[in-house]
Amino acid sequence: MDIKDKGFNSKLVHGGGFHDPLGSAVTPIYQTSTFSFQNADHGAQCFSGESDGFIYTRLGNPTIIDLEKTIAALENGYGGIATSSGMAAVNTVYLGVLSAGAHVIGHNAIYGPSRAIMETLYPKFKVESTFVDATDLKQVADAIKPNTKLIFLESPANPTIGITDIPAVCEIAHKNGILVCVDNTFCSPYLQQPLELGADIVLHSMTKFINGHADVVAGIIVTKTQEHYKMLRSVMVNMGCNMDPHQAFLTRRGLKTLALRIDRAQQNSIVIAEYLEKHPKVEWVMYPGLKSHPQYELGKRQMKGPGAMISFGLKGGFKAGKTMMNNVKLALLAVSLGGIETLIQHPASMTHSKLTAEAKLKAGITDGLVRLSVGIEEVADIIEDLGQAMAKVE
Ligand SMILES: *Cc1c(COP(=O)(O)O)cnc(C)c1O
Repeated sequence: MDIKDKGFNSKLVHGGGFHDPLGSAVTPIYQTSTFSFQNADHGAQCFSGESDGFIYTRLGNPTIIDLEKTIAALENGYGGIATSSGMAAVNTVYLGVLSAGAHVIGHNAIYGPSRAIMETLYPKFKVESTFVDATDLKQVADAIKPNTKLIFLESPANPTIGITDIPAVCEIAHKNGILVCVDNTFCSPYLQQPLELGADIVLHSMTKFINGHADVVAGIIVTKTQEHYKMLRSVMVNMGCNMDPHQAFLTRRGLKTLALRIDRAQQNSIVIAEYLEKHPKVEWVMYPGLKSHPQYELGKRQMKGPGAMISFGLKGGFKAGKTMMNNVKLALLAVSLGGIETLIQHPASMTHSKLTAEAKLKAGITDGLVRLSVGIEEVADIIEDLGQAMAKVE
């Protein structure tokens, strides 16, 4: 059986193709740091690459490789490189692709730390960056310099839910010999496959939808080519930001229900977005499944569904946001996203509270913006909870 010919849900369940010699139905946890060789020749072959035997867990481990192969199959990529966290995946890409003198173009609303390290840490290595609103293609094209090596996107972006035209950005980039990396955390491979849309590298914080149960921090990179795979694997291995076998086991288990979980959370999200859009205390709602989303048609073209992330603006601004946060009961007041439980957060008082007013405005974060990661609970219960918390808003 070649899993490559099978459908998405079959890949989720069977993807890595691991067959346990003892018949275990699931890939066991190979909780070991090192592997013994059969003899001196076998050891030599493992090191030379003539044998694909295992050597040492930082370099590779059966439990981790099963997860890497599964995600690579889901993204239709050459290979996967699992990392200890999403940020480890981001740093592996930055370190692998960039060298002194390089320039990066980033979308201005990417995950906070992905932008912060580019602006505060990488200048130490003489890497420069420009952040633009990548939903406006002209801004991307205008930012290109002779030394631009990488365009780093996130779509939909966090927490504004703006959608970037991935194929159009890839076309501009490739004409100029620039690589495109997409952080696909918000969609997961179920809703969007950036490599199919033209990107060279895709990465995930598997902490979010892929694991989906809010009990693991993990990341992964998938490349389109063997060349990028080898280069980035070497960076990951030598930086030592490898995953742990137990972390890989939990993530692989969570992954099996990815489509079921997203289908359910997405059904809930559509109902909740429509409810919020009609609510008198809500000024605006950004959700790719609503016709009012400015890139509704683009979203339909490049995403298989609108997902489970909703942002909305409360009319009462900062104070209203805080009041709502202090009164939710079912929804957890927490950062992160993509789990089976509904999470709510208020960026102006929480994740983005340290930004200056100008920087917040530039990133599209208004004082009344509330971000919801919709879970799989009964939708009536989620709506009742949001409704009673908004009733407390003056
Ligand atoms: C959470 C997140 C990250 C960072 O992932 P960690 O697993 O927390 O290191 C990167 N990008 C996006 C879009 C995220 O949501």
